[in-house]
Amino acid sequence: MKKSLNNIILFLSIFINLLLIYLLVTELHPSISNFNVPFLIALFFGSFTIYILFKSKFTELMPVRYNSFSDTGEELLKKKGNITFKDVAGLDEVIEELKVIIDFMTNTEKYNKMGAKIPKGILFYGPPGTGKTLLASALAGETNSTFISASGSEFVEKYVGVGASRIRALFAKAKKYAPSIIFIDEIDAVGTKRNTDNNSEKDQTLNQLLVEMDGFNSNEGIIVIGATNRIDMLDEALLRPGRFDRTIHIGPPNLKGRLEILKVHTRNKPLDESVSLMDLARKTHGMTGAHLATMCNEAAILAVMRNKSKIGKEEFEEALERVIAGLKKKNPSVLEKERTIAAYHEAGHALIGKILNVNIIEKISIVPRGEALGYVLNFPKDDSFLLTKTELKNKITMLLGGRASEEIIFNEISTGAENDLKEATKIAYQMVCNYGMSELGNRVFDLHFVKSTELIDQEVDKIINSCYSFAKKLLLEHKTKVIAIAEKLLEKETITKEELEEIFEEKTSLCV
Ligand code: ADP
Ligand code: ZN
Repeated sequence: MKKSLNNIILFLSIFINLLLIYLLVTELHPSISNFNVPFLIALFFGSFTIYILFKSKFTELMPVRYNSFSDTGEELLKKKGNITFKDVAGLDEVIEELKVIIDFMTNTEKYNKMGAKIPKGILFYGPPGTGKTLLASALAGETNSTFISASGSEFVEKYVGVGASRIRALFAKAKKYAPSIIFIDEIDAVGTKRNTDNNSEKDQTLNQLLVEMDGFNSNEGIIVIGATNRIDMLDEALLRPGRFDRTIHIGPPNLKGRLEILKVHTRNKPLDESVSLMDLARKTHGMTGAHLATMCNEAAILAVMRNKSKIGKEEFEEALERVIAGLKKKNPSVLEKERTIAAYHEAGHALIGKILNVNIIEKISIVPRGEALGYVLNFPKDDSFLLTKTELKNKITMLLGGRASEEIIFNEISTGAENDLKEATKIAYQMVCNYGMSELGNRVFDLHFVKSTELIDQEVDKIINSCYSFAKKLLLEHKTKVIAIAEKLLEKETITKEELEEIFEEKTSLCV
């Protein structure tokens, strides 16, 4: 509505301007006066052409009025106070750190009198889905402030000055609705280290952000919260005192944290006695709050679809598999040949996982889910975040076990190992570049700044190749077990932890 009114005003002003210019010209040169209907029509179309040109060319350069920051006050106010710290679980220490901010925001006078300055910027860093956005909006809820959220990518434009003007608009809005919390997700999109020439669009945007952060007085009741999972990429200028000078790490939850998060997300859901949240927390090592929230919701949906009055253990287990491996295919059109390949592929993963004691194998399946023809559902033995070099290599070996098994059994390899290879390569790079676990020494490499990656690639190859050889060696040694697992899979589609145990016991007693 507002937008079309703007357009009409724009058009009319072009039209009137042209008319005025014409009248001025005829005033000076009365000889060329020919004011009539065809002339008015020509003038109309002339204005229209200019209007179209103007719209297409220039609105890109002044998008502030039309973009997402222009929502009205009422909309913003509605967002107030919905989410509080009660909705955030497993982040007690972080919340403790934020308490002082709440006091600043709610008792501003007290701090003003004492001449104390409120911190302006807080940086949350950590992997996606760990609750950074949630925490920022809960902070707004707790302090009864307006929550204004934006994503760094919204400020990245190809026209110079656009990003900067959006930043300006964002802060103007925050001032208007103060007290407010500005949340900038993916701040690395604007805040990466600047180039040497200071003129690129990105640099201007970042400079504007710095200017705004320096410009407002923190006692105006504005706090800026940035979120990123790549703090190493940020320009140091952003982290200086008076800007984002408080950095808070938000990592994936531990066992207790996962239990708390599960409690929050089952708060309003009827559970039957079979459900043990502690058991679920154990099986969800490495998952973030976002995964857990999705899992709880999936379980509830399943219970509805199954006409149950309460959510049971089966729904949670199915939901867990969904979150990890994707949806079960309704009518899978899998060829027999593919089933066989999948069975040996998964048997390869499972055998190595079991022998190297990588994880607890809960289930092996060749029921297609998402894009996968099969999967091995497995959970870490304990909740440790510290991994040894051997454990990492074993993980890679298990990942490569699928492909190695295909090669040994069929003398041929398939595309089914794509994700395994991706994951294995990622771990190998981390070993070389982040953990100093290669012959290149106890040091780190930042791949963004390394000029030649040749040596790093060589080390990665060494790790991958030695793990692959090891996988093949193990599979050959235990070929009868691989075949037993695969055949059972082809027969029954899924193998449980206990059934896998049986296969191992049988064969070991045969071996002695
Ligand atoms: P991030 O901003 O770190 O990517 P979000 O805050 O967007 O993650 O999290 C997505 C969703 O996951 C939240 O809306 C919430 O439902 C759930 N979630 C994540 N972390 C937590 C947590 N610590 N406690 C409760 N729920 C959480
Ligand atoms: Zn695989």
